[in-house]
Amino acid sequence: MDKQHLDHLLRSIWTAGEKNEHSIEAIQQEYKNADLDEGLKILEEQGYIRRVGDSVEFTPLGHHAAEEIIRRYRLAERLFADLFDVSPTDYEYLACNFEHILSPEVTDSVCTFLGHPRVCPHNNPIPKGKCCVNYINDVEPLVQPLVNVPLGTRVKIVYMLPAHQKRWRKLHQLGVFPGNTLKVVQRKPSFVLEVGGTTLALDREICEGIFVKRLNDTTP
Ligand SMILES: [Zn+2]
Ligand SMILES: [Zn+2]
Repeated sequence: MDKQHLDHLLRSIWTAGEKNEHSIEAIQQEYKNADLDEGLKILEEQGYIRRVGDSVEFTPLGHHAAEEIIRRYRLAERLFADLFDVSPTDYEYLACNFEHILSPEVTDSVCTFLGHPRVCPHNNPIPKGKCCVNYINDVEPLVQPLVNVPLGTRVKIVYMLPAHQKRWRKLHQLGVFPGNTLKVVQRKPSFVLEVGGTTLALDREICEGIFVKRLNDTTP
């Protein structure tokens, strides 16, 4: 049995547990593959789980391993859903593969890039990583929605949510497109931005879909 299946099984035990289900039957419903018995046996031998009657529980080792897999999986879901507007069936499939590839460092970069999201697109909690703790203590996210940026800050647009695709051509003409820089000059009653030499007002709803990176004032 390969590592991908074992990772998938650990994730299935975790998601069943989130529904307060610990029975083999509930885990099978999440897991869906035919090699459940074999997988549980291996996980037990490796010290990841304990079996008590019909129910399965994590050891601390297994809990930690499953938490990391869940974190990678749900961050990957966010990445594909938010950034690439991939449909749920496709991003679940992609996330399934991504969970095995991401190293801890890359996982934290993805998390930081997405602004340390707390839930996946299904609204299931994403376990926090080291980056999330540091962020709460000191650094702000690398990329954040334009609406969160303080007045007077110069920012560079990193990406825009596809929800506003219809308006992209218009926004592009106004200078609002990824890679360009702008400054927030007013937040209320509407958002006023300084782009190039001109100012323009935008609906808050649109600004919520524009993700930016703060520039140092010295950045040209
Ligand atoms: Zn999800
Ligand atoms: Zn984080």
